Amino acid sequence: MSQSTPSSFESTLSSLAPHGRTALLPALHAAQEAFGYISDQVAAQIGRALGVPLAEVFGVIEFYTLFHRQPVGEVFLHVCNDPACALAGADTVFKQIVFQTAEAVSGEAPAVRVEKSACLGLCDHAPAVLVQSLPAKASPAQTWQELVAATATRPLTYVDGDVRLLTALCGRHTTVRLEEYRQNQGYQAFEQALKQSPAAIIETIKQSGLVGRGGAAFPTGLKWESAARAPGTPKYVVCNADEAEPGAFKDRVLMEDNPHAILEGMLIAAYAIGASKGYIYIRGEYLLPYRVMTAAVEEAQAGGWLGERILGSDFSFEIEIRRGAGAYICGEETALFESIEGKRGFPRLKPPFPTTHGLFGKPTVINNVETLANVPLILRMGAEAYRQLGTPQSPGPKLFCLSGDVNRPGLYEVPLGVPLRHLIEDLGQGMRHGHPFQAALIGGAAGAFATPEHLDVPLSFEGLRQVGIPLGAGVITVFNAQRDLRDAFYRLARFFAEESCGKCYPCQMGTQRQLEIMERVLQGKPLPGDWERLQDVGWTMTDASICGLGQTAASAILSAMQHWPDLFRPPAEYQ
Ligand code: SF4
Repeated sequence: MSQSTPSSFESTLSSLAPHGRTALLPALHAAQEAFGYISDQVAAQIGRALGVPLAEVFGVIEFYTLFHRQPVGEVFLHVCNDPACALAGADTVFKQIVFQTAEAVSGEAPAVRVEKSACLGLCDHAPAVLVQSLPAKASPAQTWQELVAATATRPLTYVDGDVRLLTALCGRHTTVRLEEYRQNQGYQAFEQALKQSPAAIIETIKQSGLVGRGGAAFPTGLKWESAARAPGTPKYVVCNADEAEPGAFKDRVLMEDNPHAILEGMLIAAYAIGASKGYIYIRGEYLLPYRVMTAAVEEAQAGGWLGERILGSDFSFEIEIRRGAGAYICGEETALFESIEGKRGFPRLKPPFPTTHGLFGKPTVINNVETLANVPLILRMGAEAYRQLGTPQSPGPKLFCLSGDVNRPGLYEVPLGVPLRHLIEDLGQGMRHGHPFQAALIGGAAGAFATPEHLDVPLSFEGLRQVGIPLGAGVITVFNAQRDLRDAFYRLARFFAEESCGKCYPCQMGTQRQLEIMERVLQGKPLPGDWERLQDVGWTMTDASICGLGQTAASAILSAMQHWPDLFRPPAEYQ
């Protein structure tokens, strides 16, 4: 638990009070850090200070899994239980820690709380654990005290690839500070941008063919153009760093290793659309990236790269960092805005779109971390040279997060269009323990399965689209032929059932029904009619849900039903 005192909390709350409701999540984080949990009295104090009705303060606390209304103990461990960590024995790790900590609680040792968690963004270190929000690679042989000690050194991600443009300064086990960033052409693209018109910058981004790297693949230049033309001020640039797709960890590595590249991308975006304020929204489980990004913003401010009239120009821009609190849905852009505004992360109906009605109802550009990291690169290289990478329809480099049954899990940067086989056999050094390849889940929980017949399919937007697989955020989780895939299907169904925000019925009820059927499938005992029910519920969610979570909650399972129908059929004796 933090050593903060209640008086430090009171002074933090006083400084947050002028910001009103938008400071609600920061105030709740501060309270939890100071007291270990958020008591009813403290919740009331926060509500009074920020002018938020108490019922709504409680509503927000309950929405986010990382906030607690009861004392939770001195040590808090989160054990990942999503597919990549499950393959590496996460269930055994969880049981071992529960067994050990039960002993600790009954003895003199401090109380320890252990919970299963959705993907922690540490898939290359599976089985992964967060100890007091700091990452550790676990092993069933470790005690929980050894795990606590292990967080002193952060697990290091292997970074490699055919090109090293976005990751040129990543994977060296250090964070690039401002001075080193400057020595490596850092902020040159922004300086260059200031000498051009905003329209010229937008044109360059359009010419580059850059599309969003967070999964939606929307053309970045068009998005910027729409926000630049939208009436209304102030305008905002938001960096979506709420990376929570099971299997994804690329944004974490970019933030931890090269934070200024993201700030430079935001500066260029802000100049291009006429924004004066930016937010970086980082998932609550990413305490380390939060600290690194906070330090980078302070460095940039001190160095004159953020603030008033930057480099003597007429352009002013400031950045605020916000921490989420454990809600996958906040990766959805409008849910993320709600969260910054101090509300539960419920997605908004679209249209209107964020470029005209975004954060605080104002024109907003929201881009993913990797997308923003591409921006300085494009300006430095020029759009034409950038387009030499990748395919004509999918230009540029792409980061792929490779995990599961491969010998060398890690973050790989390649030109879009290389075959899946190259990622697995060459970069990932082939299948672990020599077991043959069975399947890869591409695109995370919202993705689809590839089989051996897809190994030579190019990893480009158009190449994968032809075989019905989304590229998504660039997640590849590999399963060998020894694996019972029903376990992965069940974990995916459970993930969506837990993460559905409940705002619309198709997803709220559909994810629960899907989970119930997948429980039976996992046991090898689907009922007659379950096949039809699963199809029905899956397509209903796909067609009728109001946001991307519900619209993709069945995609992996529907793709699995095509590839392995027998796994979903009732045993012969039931038929
Ligand atoms: S689709 Fe699911 S996550 Fe999205 S708004 Fe509806 S209930 Fe919430």
